[in-house]
Amino acid sequence: MLTDSHAHLFMEDWFPDLRDIAEQCKEKGVRYVVNSGLEKDTNQKVLEISETHKTFLPSIGLYPGEVQKKSEAQLNSEIAFLNENISRCSAIGEMGLDGTYPELEKQKKWFSRALSISASHGRPAIIHSRKAEKELIECIESTLLENNPAFRKVILHCFMGSMKLVNKAVEKGWYFTIPAIAGRSEHFKSLIKNVPLRQLLTETDSPFLAPKKGETNYPWNTKEAILEIANVKRITQEETQNLIYLNFARLFLA
Ligand SMILES: [Zn+2]
Repeated sequence: MLTDSHAHLFMEDWFPDLRDIAEQCKEKGVRYVVNSGLEKDTNQKVLEISETHKTFLPSIGLYPGEVQKKSEAQLNSEIAFLNENISRCSAIGEMGLDGTYPELEKQKKWFSRALSISASHGRPAIIHSRKAEKELIECIESTLLENNPAFRKVILHCFMGSMKLVNKAVEKGWYFTIPAIAGRSEHFKSLIKNVPLRQLLTETDSPFLAPKKGETNYPWNTKEAILEIANVKRITQEETQNLIYLNFARLFLA
């Protein structure tokens, strides 16, 4: 049984027919997909999709690129949306920090507010990071310290930081998602080696990050991540799938 902890199935240009995607997921053994919004409109979409497709779990977020674009008033209303809808959601995210955009301090402020909602409700946090990994870990630490120090449902999606940072997050009990491109990345092979099986998940970030560059990605490509985890950890693919499913269930279905 496969699980995709992070995808964007609301993107209609890539996924014009979700009934077909749901059917193919079923045929190819994908049990659940966490469908992550980026801001109000797409958050609204993932909520609507989950009413028709029960296996596409809704996750509502506040993407750093959106934080960058929006005013204080708009961001307050984004946070209000998260608060109002968290009880209907399986997770909060995609949110995080992105050093390729200029205003990291602004991003930190709003990421921290979104993460606090996830921590105070005990809902998993799906976290994006790019070129700001150290700042990200520090920001998560300080937010949780103020809010809910026992919170462990922190999921670092496609984390590219150093193994030193990876090990720090492992000690805290946080989780890492392994993408379908893991087979062509030395970084993800070392990440799999460094993170205990109990703290690993699989993801695709569909429609992005396909195993073959330039193609559209789909949730069933999580089998590529399973293959890589099985290779590195030297266990069977079946065992890997079962263990990853248990992790997924502990986080998203509890
Ligand atoms: Zn994403």
